[in-house]
Amino acid sequence: MKLILATNNAHKIVEIRAILGSSFGQILSLKEAGIDHETIEDGQTFLENALKKAREITDLSGCCALADDSGLCVEALGGAPGIYSARFAGEHGDDAANRRLLLEKLEGVEDRRAHFACAMALTRPDGSVVTAEGRMDGVIAFEEKGSNGFGYDSLFYLPDRGCTNAELSPEQKNAISHRSKALHALRDKLEAEARD
Ligand code: IMP
Repeated sequence: MKLILATNNAHKIVEIRAILGSSFGQILSLKEAGIDHETIEDGQTFLENALKKAREITDLSGCCALADDSGLCVEALGGAPGIYSARFAGEHGDDAANRRLLLEKLEGVEDRRAHFACAMALTRPDGSVVTAEGRMDGVIAFEEKGSNGFGYDSLFYLPDRGCTNAELSPEQKNAISHRSKALHALRDKLEAEARD
């Protein structure tokens, strides 16, 4: 069976192929499927956004589609930036400005607990849906450390590892990330469905 990913992000495509490769005959990026489409992400939750992205690709292609939505949730900020993580400071994808604003908002704040959350949605042409979520817990550091990763990684400190996400290799991060947890949970659900 063919699966179209609602993304052209090379890093995500590699990770998804590694985990779901055995469940689908063919896994294509949007570009490989010849689809040029941008979903307006106006949902109120990660799951709503993921479902909307996947459903639009299934409707356009008539194939199964998989989409994810993720972000950073900070306890002391009531879960912000959450679904607005990519554009916390205004401009979509300005990671450095987003990190600066996060440090500013947490100035003098002792409770630094935070988590990354990821929702995955798989939609099928028959209207059925499989969803899964994953999270990764940590605390927001007082200054940036490390140069790997992206987004908020250099500020996301893992107390049990004694380093930030940005100090982990891509392989180390993929083994524990919110995205990989959501993907593994999704794979488990698909395998359980196939057994029933
Ligand atoms: P997306 O839904 O995966 O595109 O993520 C939205 C935004 O959340 C990104 O632009 C980042 O700011 C943040 N984010 C999501 N996952 C991560 C991560 O693994 N590390 C750092 N930032 C992340």
